[in-house]
Amino acid sequence: MTNEFPFEISPMFEGERVRKDDMFVELAGPKSRGFELVRAAGLDEIEDGRFNLTGPDLLSMQEGSRHPYAMIYRIAGKLVEPDLEAIVERRNHDFQNYIQGYMHLNQRYDIWVRISKDAVKKGLKSFEQIAKATMMLFKNELPFIEKIEASFITDPEEVEKQRADALKVYEARDARTKGLHDEDVDVFYGCTLCQSFAPTNVCVVTPDRISLCGAINWFDGRAAAKVDPEGPQFAIPKGEILDKVGGEYSGVNEKAASLSGGEFSRIKLHSFFEYPHTSCGCFEVVGFYIPEVDGIGWVDRDYSGSAPNGLAFSTMAGQTGGGKQIIGFLGVGVNYFRSPKFIQPDGGWDRVVWMPKNLKEKIKADIPAELLDKIPNEDEVGDLKTLRDYLEKKQHPITQRWAKEEAAPHAAPSEAVAQPAGAPLWSVPAGLPAIPQFGGGDGIKIVLKNAKITIERIILKGKEK
Ligand code: SF4
Repeated sequence: MTNEFPFEISPMFEGERVRKDDMFVELAGPKSRGFELVRAAGLDEIEDGRFNLTGPDLLSMQEGSRHPYAMIYRIAGKLVEPDLEAIVERRNHDFQNYIQGYMHLNQRYDIWVRISKDAVKKGLKSFEQIAKATMMLFKNELPFIEKIEASFITDPEEVEKQRADALKVYEARDARTKGLHDEDVDVFYGCTLCQSFAPTNVCVVTPDRISLCGAINWFDGRAAAKVDPEGPQFAIPKGEILDKVGGEYSGVNEKAASLSGGEFSRIKLHSFFEYPHTSCGCFEVVGFYIPEVDGIGWVDRDYSGSAPNGLAFSTMAGQTGGGKQIIGFLGVGVNYFRSPKFIQPDGGWDRVVWMPKNLKEKIKADIPAELLDKIPNEDEVGDLKTLRDYLEKKQHPITQRWAKEEAAPHAAPSEAVAQPAGAPLWSVPAGLPAIPQFGGGDGIKIVLKNAKITIERIILKGKEK
């Protein structure tokens, strides 16, 4: 693209990964701190192309070391308004991944960057080169940005100080949708930015459903579609409402069918089990169905341990991502927990049975007060057995579902699966495929009620002697 830089710049490097053994340095990430932020400013407040670094530069860092890292951009232009900040900020991920030897993951306060040894060998020696390349891409790809300047920070104290302010900015952005609901608007917004790695993913952003990366809310979508209607964020007229509780709209279904290449044609925006929203891979939190208690657990990116089903976030993220509708797993943005329509067809908060303590702390104010001590964290519950005991002891509302299941007339004895005495009969929601569960339980019994099983061919083979 340009030979001004000692590295190649191209979208073809987007999927490039820098492995631990190949990295010169790691910046921010799960074992350090960091953030990225874009702020709008007046045209006369910005010196176009200016770069400022607070803290050590790249070559004074030891090979293999890890450092805090913050990137703050200020942008200006006649069309630039504060509503565009989040949209521009989200593109930092794309544009920096165009740089060969530079890996950027996640967004906002979760960024994780690695620079390869190879890139340094080829002449990358300063963060200024990264900042200048990124600013060039911002201006080339988003022409409404007339002026841009960047401040990068690697000094640990300064990152901490500025991060606290950045968190307030994200919070204020998210709070804007609080008084606005899906029924108040005629148009939702779509985003296909992540189709580069999840080709059938279509994010639908509504007042009651923030994007699953957590970076784009309804106002951000509106601002982006206004300034660049042919860009990756666009309007989706709602059309006719087909399912009020599940959040199904004819306009969303039509868009889903065309943008997923016909892969799926129905989305229920607030449903966990029935035609759920697709999950690309950028989600902040994964929800996972736990058939043993008929409840839903949630695990966030920052949690490094195992959930009660024995699986870590990374394993479940692998199951969930890719732009498909995976029944039994769902990726969401943290702010979706604050939605009054949070998985409402599936029982809403009454269906939530586990979450890590840091995530719970983050959204504490939005958890219904009567459920606060009924949803256990990793210190209280580590496996499926203790989970069931905990829920029973606390009389979590999920136990009422168990009672109903036990009271319901069951299928003919030949169809029923034998259960140990006293154990509830868990039913798997219709359409739910087998969910992998590892460890933590006493064995799995799944009752398939009203299921139709078609077997095309059975091959019987005798044992070879
Ligand atoms: S996760 Fe969705 S909203 Fe966020 S950048 Fe990707 S496609 Fe867009």
